[in-house]
Amino acid sequence: MKKTLTLLLLALILENCLAWGTLGHSFVAEKSIQTLPKELQNFYLQNIDYLKNHASDPDHWKKKDAAEPSRHYIDIDFYGKYPFLELPRNYKEAKAKFTEKTLNDYGTVPWEIEKFQAELTKNFKKKDWEKIILNTVILGHYVADSHVPFHTCLNYDGQLSGNNGIHKRFESLMIEKHKNELDFQPTIAHYIDEPLIEGFRIVLESFPYANEILKTDSLATQLLSEKMIRLLPKADEFKSFEPYYEKLYNDTWKIAIQRLEKASDVLGSLIFTAWTDAGKPELPQNFKVGK
Ligand SMILES: [Zn+2]
Repeated sequence: MKKTLTLLLLALILENCLAWGTLGHSFVAEKSIQTLPKELQNFYLQNIDYLKNHASDPDHWKKKDAAEPSRHYIDIDFYGKYPFLELPRNYKEAKAKFTEKTLNDYGTVPWEIEKFQAELTKNFKKKDWEKIILNTVILGHYVADSHVPFHTCLNYDGQLSGNNGIHKRFESLMIEKHKNELDFQPTIAHYIDEPLIEGFRIVLESFPYANEILKTDSLATQLLSEKMIRLLPKADEFKSFEPYYEKLYNDTWKIAIQRLEKASDVLGSLIFTAWTDAGKPELPQNFKVGK
């Protein structure tokens, strides 16, 4: 029953649930390129428009492909208590223990990161420049999603704690409202030994922030009138809810920036790792994916 309800609620929010919004996803794509060594960076810079413009594509695939939504999250607390060791990190072992259906119901994002990072390595080995870019878009999207705290827990929209609609308010509306302050220094991409373990490390890092944001959300909601509190869960804009958004921003903006910064660092590092594992092939000086 609980699971049915969870799935029903998920279906209800999917339409509006574009993690990090288009803005956040394209921002992570852009910043991740800045972490790369020059040679690799030049190749990606030629395709920067494509990477930015298509960074949210996997969210749009949800409408056509019923299997797509579960690739964007994992409700890791379904599997017990932090650090959720009940869930084997190896996909085959997790499937044997919990069934494929359960894994799909509660999300597969760490395994998607593993899968698309391996694909990227393969395409670097084949020197398939077009596929490298297309692959990077998909990998980048799942990496960015896994950095959103509400993509890692059962209470993904505050629906279990009376914080309905927090998912979009935190990751999309607040980002949109403060887009001019969206900036940080890029890091330097590094080699990642085990992309699968990295996928789970990100999820475990993201998870505790959900509760922190929910606490702020509860306090910020109290700053609104009763009428506005009723309107907040379904509101698609921030202008009518100024006191709420001021409090949310003051208390959680640092978390949002830190998650975006870490997502850029991890994406850049996974690209660097794929290129390194492929033997650092020489990259073309003039290659641009169309549209
Ligand atoms: Zn997504």
